[in-house]
Amino acid sequence: MYINIDEIKNNKNEIVIDYNDKISFENELYPVQAKLHFKICDNIMQIEGNVKGNTKLICNRCLKENDYRFSYKINELYALDSLLDKYPDEYEIKDGNFVNDLNGEKEFNVDDFLYQIITINLPNNYVCDINCIENDENIKKYFKNSDIDPRMEIFKEIIVKEKE
Ligand SMILES: [Zn+2]
Repeated sequence: MYINIDEIKNNKNEIVIDYNDKISFENELYPVQAKLHFKICDNIMQIEGNVKGNTKLICNRCLKENDYRFSYKINELYALDSLLDKYPDEYEIKDGNFVNDLNGEKEFNVDDFLYQIITINLPNNYVCDINCIENDENIKKYFKNSDIDPRMEIFKEIIVKEKE
């Protein structure tokens, strides 16, 4: 879905959209709903609203894939034209406030915008449950790599003693 910047300007600098579509994460499509309020003031476009949906995340401990529901608030600022050209002296200050720059682009890609908002907010170290333990495969690997079970040392000793 694209929003035309001039369309917002022609609509008294404001537009509200209800987004209900599918976005691709890791080559799979997931339903996403969003309410977005676009407002333009001079060279700045503000996007306020929220986005929710579900995707799948892999647990860092058990490595199982789980359904993950997300819901994020949105409040982003965009410069319609490059701030660097218009206010070269202020760029450094503004850069910290709004990193986003449309560089005069007239078509705003809503799918791409939401994809970025979601991927930035998704947890990096996702664990499916606070009590999650590593899966069997990981435990087996651990035992294979470790030295002989220390409890077996007792039996070795007993065998040696019998021989004496
Ligand atoms: Zn887990």
